Amino acid sequence: MKYDYLIVGAGLFGATFAYEAKNAGKKCLVIDKRNHIAGNIYTEKREDIDVHVYGPHIFHTSNKEIWEYINRFAEFNNYINMPVAVYKDELYNLPFNMNTFSKMWNIRTPKEAQDIIASQVEGLGITEPKNLEEQALSLVGTDIYEKLIKGYTMKQWGRECDKLPAFIIKRLPLRFTYNNNYFNDRYQGVPMEGFTAIVENMLEGIDTVTGQDFFDLKESGRLNDGAEVSWDKVVYTGMIDEYFGYSLGTLEYRSVRFESETLDMENYQGNAIVNYTDGDVPYTRVIEHKHFNFGTQPKTIVTREYSSEWQVGIDPYYPVNDEKNTALYAKYADLAAREDGVIFGGRLGAYKYYDMDKVIEAALEVCSREFK
Ligand code: UDP
Repeated sequence: MKYDYLIVGAGLFGATFAYEAKNAGKKCLVIDKRNHIAGNIYTEKREDIDVHVYGPHIFHTSNKEIWEYINRFAEFNNYINMPVAVYKDELYNLPFNMNTFSKMWNIRTPKEAQDIIASQVEGLGITEPKNLEEQALSLVGTDIYEKLIKGYTMKQWGRECDKLPAFIIKRLPLRFTYNNNYFNDRYQGVPMEGFTAIVENMLEGIDTVTGQDFFDLKESGRLNDGAEVSWDKVVYTGMIDEYFGYSLGTLEYRSVRFESETLDMENYQGNAIVNYTDGDVPYTRVIEHKHFNFGTQPKTIVTREYSSEWQVGIDPYYPVNDEKNTALYAKYADLAAREDGVIFGGRLGAYKYYDMDKVIEAALEVCSREFK
């Protein structure tokens, strides 16, 4: 069989590209080395609960076109992400807002909160924040930094906060209103039938093979079942450094280990996401999946997330966009630009800490160039 595009990775980037390519009259083959589609947004039903197998996902965007686009493939519920943070025996609302400040300092007004933060920031002498630590301190002061940011960030990234880029913390809103919505975006929700259904719908009518390694296929020209295939172009959403055989060195990624259990109770923690911001607790957060869909099942499933450094053989999740890795990525990006007939995309292909809406945007942009 001959294809116009071989799409490597059945995640959101690959699926969006495949869907658009099909509509442009192109013939695509989508492969994924896992034995299922949907990449890290994959959800699966257990105990009638949609379990976010590779970490929690909440779709959020301010781009109306992207919101309308994703709604072609799924109906979304009205879930609003409002995680809480546990530090030792204290519990705080996230993101950093008046509920957080009033609990932290026993105050009520925005002015009181702003004054406390200003007094804590004053002595630090930070003019232009150069890293995550300085960025966090200059935004929220020392108390919030020490209790809600420092320990969590060190666990999550395995690096000191002053070795991390400032943009990571800018993902989180800071507001002086009593508003616990984790996102500032106009549109937000979780698909009623899980995230896998979105990718399933995108890939409808497109040849898709799971459990298929790209490098095996590239070498042999045959799928695992022996079928001979060829293609004109490749869309590669795996790790960009792996594509080039790590020839310039390995990029660093963070990985996550998940420990899940089914509990014989209806409601374990009363919230979908509880972050453990104390450095002494070994996991970063506990997910109770049913709450993403307001579930009332008799049982519940919870997952503890342990963050670790990526190494060959385990799944990469987060690119580490610090200086060293960003510089190395730039060199791989140069190679990629010169690699004829291959498009790189997605979190791993672009080595970028993308949210889902940005992945779709990026894929559509590539498509508009490719199919104009
Ligand atoms: N963060 C933190 N404390 C928290 C939650 C997040 O310090 O309780 C910081 C941490 O550095 C993290 C970053 O904010 O890596 C971004 O968090 P986000 O929730 O966006 O991470 P994701 O959901 O992508 O894992």
